[in-house]
Amino acid sequence: MKKLLLSLAFVATSLASAQNNTSYWQQHVDYKMEVNMNVENFQYTGTQELEYTNNSPDTLDRVFYHLYFNAFQPGSEMDVRSTSIQDPDRRVGDRISKLTEDQQGYLRVSSLNQDGNELSYEEVGTILEVELDEPILPGEKATFNMEFKGQVPEQIRRSGRNSLEGVALSMSQWFPKMAEYDFEGWHAAPYIGREFHGVWGDFDVKLTIDKDYTVAASGYLQNPDEIGHGYSDEEIEAKGDTHTWHFVAPKVHDFTWAADPDYIHDKRTAEDGTVLHFFYKDNDEIKENWKNLQEKTEDLLIFFNENIGPYPWDQYTVAQGGDGGMEYAMLTLITGERNFGSLVGVTAHELAHAWFQHLMATNESKHEWMDEGFTSYISSRGMNQVMETYAENPHTGSYRSYMGLANSGMEQPQTTQADRYALNAAYGASAYSKGAVFLAQLGYVIGEDNLDKTLKRYYDEWKFKHPTPNDFIRIAEKVSGAELDWYLNDWTRTTNTIDYGIKEVTETDENSTKVTLERKKLMPMPIDLTVRYTTGEEEMIYIPLQIMRWEKYAEHENWTVAKDWAWAYPTYELNIDKPLSEIESIEIDESQRMADVNRDNNLYTAEETSEEEEQE
Ligand SMILES: [Zn+2]
Repeated sequence: MKKLLLSLAFVATSLASAQNNTSYWQQHVDYKMEVNMNVENFQYTGTQELEYTNNSPDTLDRVFYHLYFNAFQPGSEMDVRSTSIQDPDRRVGDRISKLTEDQQGYLRVSSLNQDGNELSYEEVGTILEVELDEPILPGEKATFNMEFKGQVPEQIRRSGRNSLEGVALSMSQWFPKMAEYDFEGWHAAPYIGREFHGVWGDFDVKLTIDKDYTVAASGYLQNPDEIGHGYSDEEIEAKGDTHTWHFVAPKVHDFTWAADPDYIHDKRTAEDGTVLHFFYKDNDEIKENWKNLQEKTEDLLIFFNENIGPYPWDQYTVAQGGDGGMEYAMLTLITGERNFGSLVGVTAHELAHAWFQHLMATNESKHEWMDEGFTSYISSRGMNQVMETYAENPHTGSYRSYMGLANSGMEQPQTTQADRYALNAAYGASAYSKGAVFLAQLGYVIGEDNLDKTLKRYYDEWKFKHPTPNDFIRIAEKVSGAELDWYLNDWTRTTNTIDYGIKEVTETDENSTKVTLERKKLMPMPIDLTVRYTTGEEEMIYIPLQIMRWEKYAEHENWTVAKDWAWAYPTYELNIDKPLSEIESIEIDESQRMADVNRDNNLYTAEETSEEEEQE
């Protein structure tokens, strides 16, 4: 009988998700590119054939391409923003303003046609605005053919040539890339500093480069036997001075590569069959760390597979490059001269982005907390496991950083566009830390089991798509049964904070005690109240939040559900059927999963037995 019920429930769930997705659509792109890189002057030329499928219900008469490398020119929006913000990214600072012509980046389109007809277009900073020759009707395809040329800028931010650690080429955001058109229209955002939103599709890239360079890339190498360089077991003699590397990357929204003549290339096949590739400089100071990283990367991959959902590609690459750590399709570029913990930690974060950006591809410019926050949350758990730290709450760093932000007066709502934060620091704490606390705290609100199931169902329903905040919270609602719109709204669209306190504890008669709690800030929360008695007994009193229309399952063996607390009432009274003398302590959210901005009022201790005071 139980099995039957379970399978009925399964059918009902599948139908429900199918119904939800009928109105969802996304555009599709297939790129074929051939690129020639000159490693002497870091200039390159390319051709691009792009088959664009308009799956939207709308007729398109314009399209837009990103030309990211144009950001690395004096006077660009990225340059001006970096030199005028109060706390510039130290990697950028005023460096763009000082680039000479041969150090700058650029990406220029030299010809563009649509199904054979020349198009008129205008280069506007980092965006190419294109008037179409023929509108693309709903359900129709168009093929764009383009010639482009570029110059790789000095490594300043994310991509570039000659990184501080001596990596020759970190090639992200390097090709003319179609902007995303989705249910909110075009997203032709200029490249000012951060965050991306791309179109899903298949990439076929042929890259011709000096034969001594080893290339790490997003896709699968199609011709390892012509290349060697650790992709095949033998060393291969190039026919001329160059190799032409042929990569194919299916179902991605980005294509990135890196190349260096001194890369060491190691491979490791993980337990799930994924082939992990590692590329790092032949530098004695980092070799041991990069060898030891390989097993940890596999452990992390398995952890994320089990706790989110299976990594769907057959390959993942960790390559030394860039200027910190940044996620790309099937690959990350990270700086490599780090201590071991940091090397594994950054790899954990970037690998987790394979799920929270390269599978559940949120529009990062709008919902930066969904990819950075979710990634920070799951990578903290992953690190806690693979580094064998086993902390009870691996997210304390995220909570601390969020508290700092909430108490700083500099907080802006998480709905702020990623470039529009007044301070880089406020962006960072909001996207990464407050975003991670969104999930960690949701575990408190709906229970850890429900949170785990929510993440897995989020993966099942939204992999290879562009989910929105509402898509996520609706899954949490369906999994738990609780109403959670208030949680999404207060946490992500306002700067309301949480502060609950114990106002008063008084003896009502010789057998009962009255506890008065108060809500001192605006954001509502359910309350877990731990009561310890002098008898050694411990009880968890759960106070449901009325607007959730729901009660959490027991998270403690001695679990009592009290009456609901309706948000508008600033205080709440609770009766405990024990004399005051038998109460040793009462604490709001002992687990510290609720992001209470003032914990000073969360604990009551009986005066005579105040061990906490002695222990300070
Ligand atoms: Zn990140």
